[in-house]
Amino acid sequence: DESCCAPLPVLGRDVTVPLVTGGEVSYAALDYAASAPALQRVWDDVAAYAPYYGSVHRGAGYLSQLSTDLFENARRTVEEFLGCRPGDQVVFTRSTTDSLNLLAAALPADCQVFVFETEHHASLLPWRDARVTYLNAPRTPGEAVATLERALADRDPYGPALVCVTGASNVTGELWPVRELAAAAHAHGARIVLDAAQLAPHHPVSVSELDVDWVAFSGHKLYAPFGSGVLAGRADWLQAAEPYLAGGGASKSVARRTDGGVDVEWHSTAARHEAGSPNVIGAYSIASACKALTEAGFDSLVAREQELIARVREGLAEVPEVKVLSLFGDDAPRVGVLSFVVEGWNSSHFAAALSAEYGIGVRDGLFCAHPLVRTLLGSDPQEQGECGAPEAAPGEKSLNAIRVSFGAGTPDEHVERFVRAVR
Ligand code: PMP
Repeated sequence: DESCCAPLPVLGRDVTVPLVTGGEVSYAALDYAASAPALQRVWDDVAAYAPYYGSVHRGAGYLSQLSTDLFENARRTVEEFLGCRPGDQVVFTRSTTDSLNLLAAALPADCQVFVFETEHHASLLPWRDARVTYLNAPRTPGEAVATLERALADRDPYGPALVCVTGASNVTGELWPVRELAAAAHAHGARIVLDAAQLAPHHPVSVSELDVDWVAFSGHKLYAPFGSGVLAGRADWLQAAEPYLAGGGASKSVARRTDGGVDVEWHSTAARHEAGSPNVIGAYSIASACKALTEAGFDSLVAREQELIARVREGLAEVPEVKVLSLFGDDAPRVGVLSFVVEGWNSSHFAAALSAEYGIGVRDGLFCAHPLVRTLLGSDPQEQGECGAPEAAPGEKSLNAIRVSFGAGTPDEHVERFVRAVR
């Protein structure tokens, strides 16, 4: 099944797993939304560089210089990938979660934050020390824009404000109207940060075209390994803030004062928030993935994914007990991420059966977006849905859901096996 892979082959296609029914089967990785497999190209680039890595920004030796160049070039590559504006900064972080917490730590005093309750916890929770307004779940993209506009119209017009929004939901896969939300934010003098953890692997994300102030994403969802992420965008708030971590690399000059204390001059570049020895392989692998995706072009990736989504939807529609979760309606455009419940089944047991009997890896639970999943399921916050939920009898509502997700390198066979297994 070559149709899946060219021009972006991924690792892990030859992994086999045991089945409870006996024998082995090739592993069908259908949990890209949690972590996508690495691109072969990323693996090759990292393997070619691995013998040469050295300390970044510090050493005079040849390998240190080489690593420093690769690290700083990785920043340029990400800048280009994200269509950054002149003056924007690309900060390498550990993940999307880390990026959004960094921005939360850099908010100006008295900043008001507006966030939909439907966000992933990584974009819902970091603002809790600020003045946060949680916006109710909208049922259409237009309602999202109208809800935000209403909330911003009521805000203190003189203070700083930030809107945080996801580009594509990690639960429903649905696309959010980012350009319109950015326009609404700016019309009311607010800024906006885009959580692109699920969008960037599936769609081109341009900071300047979408007109967002910051964007955050994770390497491990963008076909690179774990441990690295990006926060890119406006430099001013980041430069005005205290460093996210205090330490070497973030400090330009440190001196003892005569009164016994210590004076520090911090860098005003991205290094200000990158204290400690940086994850050069992480940054390099993100850059490698960005280059591979750019060279392959998103058009073929999107077209292939839309084919797979259509096949999954068609297959699930044949099973009357299956209910696909959606905030914006069945026809809403989405990336290759889809959640559903099966009447009469506990979702955790269902997912476990997909794994044990068919070698299919999906995710079950509330997907770190508890308020959203509870809204979609119509369940009560007091009901425990994450794990160990009781069996839902026919007619009873489920307390958690099953998520299937895919992308580059997903063969037809994995999707067909999934559809057959659900049926
Ligand atoms: N935002 C969204 C929409 C996500 O799907 C995720 C990961 N599930 C995150 C943020 C957090 O990403 P990470 O775990 O890499 O920090």
